Amino acid sequence: MTEPVLPVITRFAPSPTGFLHLGHVHSCLFAVNAAKQAGGRFLLRIEDIDPNRCRPEYEVMLKEDLAWIGFRWEEPVRRQSDHMDDYAAALDRLAALGVTYPCFCSRKDIADEIARAGNAPHLVAMGPEGPLYPGICRHVLPDVAAARMAAGEPHAIRLNVAQAAALTGPLVWHDRGRGTVPADTGLLGDIVLARRDVRTSYHLSVTVDDAIQDVSLVTRGVDLFHATHVHRLLQALLSLPVPDYHHHDLLLNNRGERLSKRDGATGIRILREQGATAEEVLLCARGWQPGKLETP
Ligand code: GLU
Repeated sequence: MTEPVLPVITRFAPSPTGFLHLGHVHSCLFAVNAAKQAGGRFLLRIEDIDPNRCRPEYEVMLKEDLAWIGFRWEEPVRRQSDHMDDYAAALDRLAALGVTYPCFCSRKDIADEIARAGNAPHLVAMGPEGPLYPGICRHVLPDVAAARMAAGEPHAIRLNVAQAAALTGPLVWHDRGRGTVPADTGLLGDIVLARRDVRTSYHLSVTVDDAIQDVSLVTRGVDLFHATHVHRLLQALLSLPVPDYHHHDLLLNNRGERLSKRDGATGIRILREQGATAEEVLLCARGWQPGKLETP
């Protein structure tokens, strides 16, 4: 008996924190093409868990610009802020496994601890995004933590990565560009699963959503490559299916740098206002590497 071949389902998952730009189009095109080549399905998902940075107006404009370019997606579109119950349920399951702990640290507490440990550099573990959480609250006794929570002290929930990895044992995942990758589950340290203000996090909600939506091929920028290690750990803890991955290169400006807000002219709104056609936008978004497009 051969294994049934699952349909390829990809997704593009922007956060509505600003206008659509060429980097988004590059990423969306990658997901759409991966689905198309496999005769599969493409989904759009709105990742709006951060109320401080996300705006409904941006969601409207993102969709409007995507449609203008010619992208089509299935309805209804999943919007993360409508599904907090799903993330709460996943958090409960992780808590029941005994691999989470409340973290009462403010940003300042963490920075102070890192600065203190900085005098003994071997104590400051570095991750791809900077120093890792130094584990202050990992050592708070459970009854003390319970009393602080009962007293209403604001707290995040973190994953005790070492304990979690001990439960799952070694894990691997597959990237279409890089082959089999051993999961380096401690790469980001004890990640936040639920923030103080929002009872989920990027890592938790993206992992849960990809499973709920049956996403079988996760495509996203290589800047999120390191996040996949810990997503793999969450999948194992939550008994979720493991999708295939393909991390794509980022679109670069003509100085070889990643596009940023400073490259304002790459905003699709602006390009449209300047008279660019959808074909021209797609052409730029397809691939624009240093040297290929020189400034006049
Ligand atoms: N929402 C994320 C972003 O806008 C992408 C998440 C993902 O593809 O996993 O960067």
